[in-house]
Amino acid sequence: MQTGTVFNIQRYSIDDGPGIRTTVFVKGCPLVCPWCSNPESQSAEPQLQYRVTACAHCGACAAACPSGAITVTADSHTIDRARCTVCGVCVRACEYDALKISGEEMSVDKVWKTVRKDTDYYETSGGGVTCSGGEILAQPEFVREIFEKCRENGVHTCADTSGYGTEEAMRRVLEFADLVFFDIKHSDPARHLALTGVPLETVLANLRLCAGSGVPVVVRIPLIPECNADEAAVRGMAEIVRKCAPEAAVNLLPYHRYGASKYASVGREYTLEALRELTEDEKSRAADVFAEYGIKCEVSV
Ligand code: SF4
Ligand code: SF4
Repeated sequence: MQTGTVFNIQRYSIDDGPGIRTTVFVKGCPLVCPWCSNPESQSAEPQLQYRVTACAHCGACAAACPSGAITVTADSHTIDRARCTVCGVCVRACEYDALKISGEEMSVDKVWKTVRKDTDYYETSGGGVTCSGGEILAQPEFVREIFEKCRENGVHTCADTSGYGTEEAMRRVLEFADLVFFDIKHSDPARHLALTGVPLETVLANLRLCAGSGVPVVVRIPLIPECNADEAAVRGMAEIVRKCAPEAAVNLLPYHRYGASKYASVGREYTLEALRELTEDEKSRAADVFAEYGIKCEVSV
């Protein structure tokens, strides 16, 4: 049986595919998108996460840490991540739920034990299970086996991917997927590489593979001001959809800063602090471009 690293299993999700779903978030992503709303998903390794809003500055974590990695004062709490071995002792010492280890190795059976609790909801709502990330193509055998288990039990499956991974990984995941959510981040190869850290070419090859597989594809585009929301970039992405996945619908995901506060929780800086949100006019103009290309397009709130 496969095991994988999971950082969250979200029950009763309504944004990750049709109906009511359970979303399994796997940890680890080869992309480095600065707008990522799950920064704790990017590292493949388990990490200590700290919530400043829950902390009472009691100092119990610092006293318990065997590595001397935590320093607490009346108005500060610092973690020396170079010293931290992610042992979890401080998590158990904290009575305020301010610390947690993000990332747990799980077997497919353990995932299934959570997933199966909501089979009634899946049936009545037309929902199912979505595997998201992080990047699912970084753990393809784990995701494939979760999907296989779902298929055996009549549960609908959705693969939510950035599209960056080997062709073999994509094929393995597709075999038991009923729906693919496929992200496109930019149409220009140089900008794509600069923003995400990975080449566009690999993503497009996998998009063509998905589109030719017979599994329905929804292309999801995070629309980020000053990154990919200008007309040339939007037109470029519409061209990509028309050429590589002409049957796909498009879902535009306008930039939001919901994940901004989580960067500090894993000891990172949020680099888009000064970025504005898109206007309603900009969102509808982007949707109009896709309509011009004859592509069905929705804008998420
Ligand atoms: S996880 Fe372990 S090593 Fe890291 S800060 Fe907590 S107690 Fe210290
Ligand atoms: S034990 Fe919890 S509440 Fe106390 S200082 Fe550490 S993180 Fe904050």
